[in-house]
Amino acid sequence: MADSISNTQPEAPGSIAQERRLLGEVPGPRSRALQERRMTVVARGVGSSLPVYIQDACGAILRDVDGNQLIDLGSGIAVTGIGHAVPAVSRAIAEQAERFVHTCFMITPYEGYLEVCEQLAQLTPGRHEKRSALFNSGAEAVENAVKVARYATGRQAVVVLEHAYHGRTNLTMALTAKHQPYKAGFGPFAPEVYRVPASYPLRDPDGMTGEEAAARALGKVALQVGSESVACVVVEPIQGEGGFVVPAPGFLPALSRWCQEHGALLVADEVQTGFARSGDWFASDHEQVVPDLVTTAKGIAAGMPLAGLTGRAELMDAVHVGGLGGTFGGNPVACAAALASIDTMRAGDYPARARKIELVSEPYLAGLAKTCPAVAEVRGRGAMLAMELVRPGTLEPDAALAQAVARACLTEGVVVLTCGSFGNVIRLLPPLSIDEALLVEGLEVLASVVERLAS
Ligand SMILES: *Cc1c(COP(=O)(O)O)cnc(C)c1O
Repeated sequence: MADSISNTQPEAPGSIAQERRLLGEVPGPRSRALQERRMTVVARGVGSSLPVYIQDACGAILRDVDGNQLIDLGSGIAVTGIGHAVPAVSRAIAEQAERFVHTCFMITPYEGYLEVCEQLAQLTPGRHEKRSALFNSGAEAVENAVKVARYATGRQAVVVLEHAYHGRTNLTMALTAKHQPYKAGFGPFAPEVYRVPASYPLRDPDGMTGEEAAARALGKVALQVGSESVACVVVEPIQGEGGFVVPAPGFLPALSRWCQEHGALLVADEVQTGFARSGDWFASDHEQVVPDLVTTAKGIAAGMPLAGLTGRAELMDAVHVGGLGGTFGGNPVACAAALASIDTMRAGDYPARARKIELVSEPYLAGLAKTCPAVAEVRGRGAMLAMELVRPGTLEPDAALAQAVARACLTEGVVVLTCGSFGNVIRLLPPLSIDEALLVEGLEVLASVVERLAS
């Protein structure tokens, strides 16, 4: 087993056996009772796609309140990339919590915040001088990227892509493409946001190159916005909520070149793609794109709320003192979790683990693409993999099938998530620390479910 995924794992999670176990129906009676109770106190607008209530979790296993053990191929949306309840992280959290939990970095600072910024400077793309600021959520990091870009360029227009997802606050709703459920009824939205076509190889004209897709987008910018008005172009190097859309090669480099030529900033929203997920530390790395500003969050701190904005020193330092911040941003416990988590990722070469997950998963997904006409495309990079489901023989999205697949996987003890502008994409975001055998078991369940429901 020299090349098994698990053999570089520095610290095997101990308290829950890494195996799928179904004691009864999923969701079981306790989950169903909690779901009823929830209706009386939790706002309906906060949905849960899989109403299974979790008691504890460890490694790649979620154990629910009915004792079922589920294989987690979602990592809480690419957050627990190193797995659940990793002892080194739990210890770091406990130790920091015993020392102090909060001072407010804007009042009396502490070293952990600096150390996270040092890690961000080292790991994010490019060897230039960098500065970072820490926040609580991905949306907040993206908002601050726009603040810095506007301040540093003295311009206002923000260019975003079709199928983009950047968050749920007012400004990031404006940046996000999808109306339902993210924007419907919540307007008016922030002004000076302009949307242009992305590169979506499956749905673009046959053979369209990345350069051509970029020219299509940037032509619209020149025509409708004015290139000289653009503060920044905000892109996800691989679109996340929009459907795990990997742009055609050349698309991101062309956007990057255009930004340089026109004095605009390239903001890479790496909130979902970052921290080893795509098989490199950041997804911008695959095409050697060096963004001016990079946002991070989800995978940074193994589940503690933390986000970062990292960028060229001269841009970040342009902003006046007091212009950036927030009460909780860069919380010391979250920083301790991030440092332990990054340490674990470095020590275990997690980018390589993500690439190995892609290798192990590929035959299962490619097999489905071959045998199931409903699988229009398998795509993704590293441990960020997806399949897009359609009505056979067409490109008509089949969201109902994607929902049914996710539900059926859950009843068989495997958590998979959906996504996509059309809701018709099954996405896989396994913990990068997952045992190979467990991953294969999850993939076999997924494959059998897709074969059963898609025929
Ligand atoms: C999840 C996500 C966000 C928003 O992050 P929150 O922490 O939910 O605010 C922003 N951008 C991308 C690419 C994301 O995937």
